Amino acid sequence: MRIVIVGGVAAGMSAASRAKRLSPDAEIVVFERGEIISYGACGLPYVLGGAVEDWDDLVARTPDQMRARGIGVRLRHEVTGVDARARTVTVQDRDAGRVTQEPYDRLLVATGVSALRPDWARTDLAGVHVLRDIPDGQAIERSMQGAKRVCIVGAGYIGLELAENLCRQGLSVVLLEKGPDVAGRTLDPEYRRRVREEVERHGVDVRCGVSVGGLTGKNGRVTGLQTSDGLVRADTVIVAVGVRPNVELLRAAGARIGQTGAAAVNARQETNVEGVYAAGDNCQSVHRVTRRRVHIPLGLTANRMGRVAGVNMAGSDATFPGVVGTGIFKVYGLGVARTGLTQTDADELGLDAVSVDVKSTDHAGYYADARPIHVRLTGERGSGRLLGAQLIGENHLSVKRVDVIAAHLHGRGKVHDLFEMDLAYAPPFSGVWDVLLVAADRLS
Ligand code: FAD
Repeated sequence: MRIVIVGGVAAGMSAASRAKRLSPDAEIVVFERGEIISYGACGLPYVLGGAVEDWDDLVARTPDQMRARGIGVRLRHEVTGVDARARTVTVQDRDAGRVTQEPYDRLLVATGVSALRPDWARTDLAGVHVLRDIPDGQAIERSMQGAKRVCIVGAGYIGLELAENLCRQGLSVVLLEKGPDVAGRTLDPEYRRRVREEVERHGVDVRCGVSVGGLTGKNGRVTGLQTSDGLVRADTVIVAVGVRPNVELLRAAGARIGQTGAAAVNARQETNVEGVYAAGDNCQSVHRVTRRRVHIPLGLTANRMGRVAGVNMAGSDATFPGVVGTGIFKVYGLGVARTGLTQTDADELGLDAVSVDVKSTDHAGYYADARPIHVRLTGERGSGRLLGAQLIGENHLSVKRVDVIAAHLHGRGKVHDLFEMDLAYAPPFSGVWDVLLVAADRLS
């Protein structure tokens, strides 16, 4: 049995490891067009900010470590085509320029997403970047040397994390956002405003409702952006306006692409083409609260999808359970988390939803360093079903209690059942009635 995997990061390497463990005799070959495999892209902003010392610290397993486990890894090998009938892939060795046909019995396409680059960002000017992988991060790091003013376009969680981390390096940072506020659809407006206040308080120049039309440059380097708000000067520009799933190979193989633009797979991570699997950021999944197909490209999802694909390619049986839209990030002192639906999401879906807001402290008020935490809990009128939660805490670790809500959403629990849960309590950790219980009580 020969298993071929395209893409060697979260989904691809999870699949390879799992398949090898379950089927030690299988030949497993991973083709990666880049130079690095098995690393945590989520840590990229923190290397730029200095909280993580080195790019190498992000690497979980080297190619040699994978080879020692019996997994073949070919770096700088790009898969450019799939012949699903012949069960072969076309592979280009990017160094030697050689093109070969490689046979497979099972194929996993784990090619991730690419950063969107609007027309104005397709330029030869130096100093214009996106951030998806370690080489992108290293290019930004080089660009930062001698730079004074950075403009980040897009105030989603990656733009926000970058703003903080580049500001920490002493750069003057402008954060431009086309939408009305930062953190886009992640949060309801009231919660977005709190995030914006936090970044502004630390000196980031946030400008929302601003669109970019073009770039200005001098001597081959970017000098600014032409925007609906006039010229914004910058010697480095980072474009963080979203991503697009890399589904070209799958489409060419005859695999179905969903309405989200990502690959449509079943719960076993199989595409509609026999022997061809897809996993990770390039796939859509089922939202367990709405039962709709969604594309929410995140790290745990990619690892889990890869693991499921690995099990199934090895001949065993596993299914991906779906997602509930859980996300978390930090900006300066604030932790920000959400899961399930916001009130805005629920309204757009036509649900009869209601939300309560509770402000409390992350642990007992009388114990040292108690910090404010805000929770918005959203439920469905009538059925009493829990729909989602948003949390903002001034101790960033405090919002990890979002996991309690995520777990409850997985079980399609009711608000009242949340109130009845036996949650942990001691003064250094929470109030006797944790803020989640208080919110559930008010909502039920
Ligand atoms: P990728 O990691 O994109 O890997 C796909 C690989 O496929 C790439 O190495 C690519 O070179 C290779 N490839 C593509 N096409 C070909 C081809 N034709 N031939 C050969 N190789 C190919 N998620 C979170 O949950 N929490 C976070 O805090 C978080 N922070 C993030 C911060 C940043 C800056 C970024 C960029 C991402 C962050 N993510 C976060 C998202 C997370 O990193 C991704 O969900 C995860 O990396 C997806 O893994 P993947 O294997 O599906 O795709």
